[in-house]
Amino acid sequence: MITGLTDIGELELHEIEQALADLGHPRFHARQIFQWVHKRGVVDFALMSDLGRDLRGQLAMQFAVFTPQVERKERSSDGTTKFLLRLADGKLIESVYIPDTPAQTFCISTQVGCAMRCAFCLTGKMGIDRNLTAGEIAGQVRVLARELGMLDTRVNIVLMGMGEPLHNYEATMKALRMLADEHGFAMSPRRMTLSTVGVLPALERLATEPLMPNLAISLHSTTEDQRDMLVPINRKYGLKELLDACRRFPIKRRERITFEYVLLRDVNDTPEDARRLVRLLHGIRGKVNLLPLNEAAGIPFERPSDDRVNRFARVLSDHGVTVSVRKSRGRDIRAACGQLITESSRTAAPGKRLAMLMGA
Ligand code: SAH
Repeated sequence: MITGLTDIGELELHEIEQALADLGHPRFHARQIFQWVHKRGVVDFALMSDLGRDLRGQLAMQFAVFTPQVERKERSSDGTTKFLLRLADGKLIESVYIPDTPAQTFCISTQVGCAMRCAFCLTGKMGIDRNLTAGEIAGQVRVLARELGMLDTRVNIVLMGMGEPLHNYEATMKALRMLADEHGFAMSPRRMTLSTVGVLPALERLATEPLMPNLAISLHSTTEDQRDMLVPINRKYGLKELLDACRRFPIKRRERITFEYVLLRDVNDTPEDARRLVRLLHGIRGKVNLLPLNEAAGIPFERPSDDRVNRFARVLSDHGVTVSVRKSRGRDIRAACGQLITESSRTAAPGKRLAMLMGA
């Protein structure tokens, strides 16, 4: 942990301007600093050659750029690459590069672990450790882009890594604003997708934001009772209220809400489920993305056969619902949806690990 220093990669442009003004320097240097950090991935003030020596020295005394460090990289046979990243306080998260879908996509985490405990998701088994800061969320994009030689490539980001973005609202939205800033990565919000289980108050708030990412809703079920079991937050914010909020959500012309639906064999994969889904989505500008379960040890469900997946998809399309089936990527390196879980919790609880290390 770098103590006493503020993460300048955590500050929006106007905040850096303010910090410079406080130090008695002209505000326009903020743009230069923001460009160095977010556009060129430079984290050492000494290398920021268009800043005066005095300013560089002063910055180095007060600030640092906390960039997640690559602890391990695993490349799947399909090119998907999973990055295990170490944060300044030693915590671990995962981010995934998914090539050629046809876009280049970064799957980014918003929390260390997740509090939502969806019944089929491995990350949920970790529980929540802490929220990521905006700097750590945007920092993942910086690190992946630099590691992959993609600082000048157009990429899409999906907030579908570890964590529930609407359970870490402030930092998530701040990170998206920093990524969109024209002096930095300059990413169009149309290239950003926020995926959520539907934390309703936060979803209502998102509806009022000037910066609007694409929205994906993790629906997964067509009845309140079943969704209560699969996506526990449904007990607090039910399916009906969630869909009502989606109906009210301001969607731009020609855009749609994506509804993600994980298919679990003999649980939610029958033609009746598909027909109920059609009825539920009536009147919402949406499309459905089917996610045949990625199986994992400790997940008490099975993936349906391709036949069953196709039959489900067919019912939707026959009723005029746009549907796609997510092709699972990176399964051989456990980088697929719901398979992100960091090593420390994959093995044992911290206390137990310590005991093992000490030879107990
Ligand atoms: N918390 C957010 C984003 C993270 S997960 C959300 O839930 O939307 C991204 C998607 O992967 C979600 O739709 C999630 O339900 C799904 N998912 C989780 N575990 C899965 C698994 N084992 N197989 C397939 N999809 C899974």
